[in-house]
Amino acid sequence: MSEVLSCFDPAANPQRMLPVDESIQRILSQVMAITDTERLALPAALDRVLAEDLISPINVPQQTNSAMDGYAVCAAGLNPQQPLHIVGSAYAGSAFNGILQAGEAVEIMTGAPLPQGADTILIKEVCQREGNSLSFTGPVQPGQHVRQAGEDIAAGSLALSQGSRLRPQELGLIASLGHTEVAVYRRLRVAIFSTGDEVVAQGQPLTENCIYDTNRFTLQGMLQRLGCEVIDLGIIEDSQPAMETALSAAAGQADAVISSGGVSMGNADYIKSALEQVGEINFWRIAMRPGRPLAFGQLLNRTPFFGLPGNPVAVMVTFSQFVQPALRKMMGSGDWQPVRVSAVAEEAIRSRAGRTDYSRGIYRIDEQGQLQVRTTGSQGSGILTSMTAANCLIEIGDDKAALEAGDRVLIQPFPDLL
Ligand code: AMP
Ligand code: MG
Repeated sequence: MSEVLSCFDPAANPQRMLPVDESIQRILSQVMAITDTERLALPAALDRVLAEDLISPINVPQQTNSAMDGYAVCAAGLNPQQPLHIVGSAYAGSAFNGILQAGEAVEIMTGAPLPQGADTILIKEVCQREGNSLSFTGPVQPGQHVRQAGEDIAAGSLALSQGSRLRPQELGLIASLGHTEVAVYRRLRVAIFSTGDEVVAQGQPLTENCIYDTNRFTLQGMLQRLGCEVIDLGIIEDSQPAMETALSAAAGQADAVISSGGVSMGNADYIKSALEQVGEINFWRIAMRPGRPLAFGQLLNRTPFFGLPGNPVAVMVTFSQFVQPALRKMMGSGDWQPVRVSAVAEEAIRSRAGRTDYSRGIYRIDEQGQLQVRTTGSQGSGILTSMTAANCLIEIGDDKAALEAGDRVLIQPFPDLL
């Protein structure tokens, strides 16, 4: 294995670049799903990953019932010329106990169980009631406005499978089975730190040639959104002993460790030496922009380590493309893939064959209903406002050179509520 990997070691072969897809596959093949689970009350399980298959103990809905307010009737022999006789009523939560005969109707509310003998609902709006006599106007579709027992989830069927992420809709579904608790995988603990003598913590004066630490905050935010517990190790000075101490400490308490900075050609040396002491790490040059340098491997106790580039946009892009799939696998999620949607480029967009480009984009629906996308403007990997202005990444694969206005392109929208 090391022979295959070493051909991507820039020291061994500085020309070789690793394609994005292959990088993701290599990373995924080296990380394992955790097995520890815990039982949580439903509201606390939001955004966690389900650790069991949920088989429904009941039909949902339990009874065949009405989807509308109106009158329950039997469709056979129904004739708008002949008024029906109203024999009773059924409210949500309480049934009509008799058996409906031909020529009869039962007043019924939404959600009330369908009386025996009835199979169809006449909605209130097409009916006219005088005393207990009911006339109506057609047409009538047999079975209309009826919700069948078990039409949402049949008793004994698989309601949700292990590995599902629990969004609000999954919590609602589990609640509809009557459960108050659910088994989920425990949270991942992820340690993060920044590197670089020029990187300054907030609250410190910004001395000349320095820059405030951005990356720990974007990383923290993305990790929180993924449902991870974050261990913030702060800013580690550019020195081999400091790096070794930080990495050993991190490996001891976290499921994964993420750093930013220090992995590009210019400053790889001391980090490389530190990493050699504490694990088996490979330095990759990935055929992408932004985010070409990436260190990946395992620390001494097989804790995955991601050495992301230093530039703030590169950190966010490499996290979303490489770290996110790995962490989702570790959390127990099934085959996770980013959402990709096809859009039309509103302008020419820079790219190069042999490299995957991730421009920051703004998508919108035009007057013709067509999804259009343009870039946010300046695309430097240090321009973090390109991320704050964006609602998607524009992904131009390594098989494509620059894009012309009007060309189709894939975008990865930034996720929202559901
Ligand atoms: P490096 O890969 O360490 O050479 O960093 C590349 C660029 O990213 C340099 O301009 C750094 O100053 C910048 N950088 C590195 N770490 C951070 C950070 N935590 N916050 C903001 N900028 C950073
Ligand atoms: Mg640096």
